[in-house]
Amino acid sequence: MIDHEQKVPGRKELLTAGAVAAAALLAAAGVRFMNTTGSKPAEGPAETASYTTPSEGAAYVKICRDGAYAAQVMLPAGDQTFTQKELILVNPWHLLPENYEAELENVEYGHRMDVCAAEHLRDMLADCRGAGYAPLVCSSYRERSKQESLFANDVRRFMYRGYTEEEAIEETARNVAVPGSSEHEAGLAADIVYAGRQVLDESQELNETQQWLIEHCWEYGFILRYPRDKQEITGITYEPWHYRYVGMEAAEEIMSRGICLEEYLGVIDADR
Ligand SMILES: [Zn+2]
Repeated sequence: MIDHEQKVPGRKELLTAGAVAAAALLAAAGVRFMNTTGSKPAEGPAETASYTTPSEGAAYVKICRDGAYAAQVMLPAGDQTFTQKELILVNPWHLLPENYEAELENVEYGHRMDVCAAEHLRDMLADCRGAGYAPLVCSSYRERSKQESLFANDVRRFMYRGYTEEEAIEETARNVAVPGSSEHEAGLAADIVYAGRQVLDESQELNETQQWLIEHCWEYGFILRYPRDKQEITGITYEPWHYRYVGMEAAEEIMSRGICLEEYLGVIDADR
């Protein structure tokens, strides 16, 4: 099973714009991926790497889709004014702050979600199974440190091969989610597949388990986060398996109107 949505074949092209933008946010804000030993990094199993995050209020730079650079001050996700944490926006342009802490609760089989979403996910899974289907959670809360070490290891490998740090970060971001840019780190997203087909690709939409989830998820406060027709806004390709908890009211409006979370929140950056 693929447990890393950024690596699903075929989604690279569209993903690149968003991932590179996120990498640029980090680079511009002074994020450095360092080899703490000071020695030349070796290929193969990685050594410990350190990772520093942007200071608060830092000016961020983002890359537009045409590749041009535009300096723009953006607020990190943690500075957004929202009263319900389930509405926090996390995408390649709005990173989760490093100090963000999800309040975790067990869902099933070792999968954890934020307490605001866990019970609703359990209910949705139970009802889906009760209707005769076979949903399986294959990814839920993902620790930031895991994402950071994955990312830092790849950056060091590129640098060892002669890339500059900036180039290495951009190359890495094409294949690995930039730390802070995944909703899984907030404990608000779950990747759910049909147990009989545990592959994250578009064919998920063809099975009845997934169709039940897409039709009923809003009743439990979840949305299908990355619709096919909103890829230009979300920066992420169609994912008929990634469900995001946003609360009942928002979920009903988002799913019934056929909009995405960015549109619901009114946060769309015009130049991307
Ligand atoms: Zn996901």
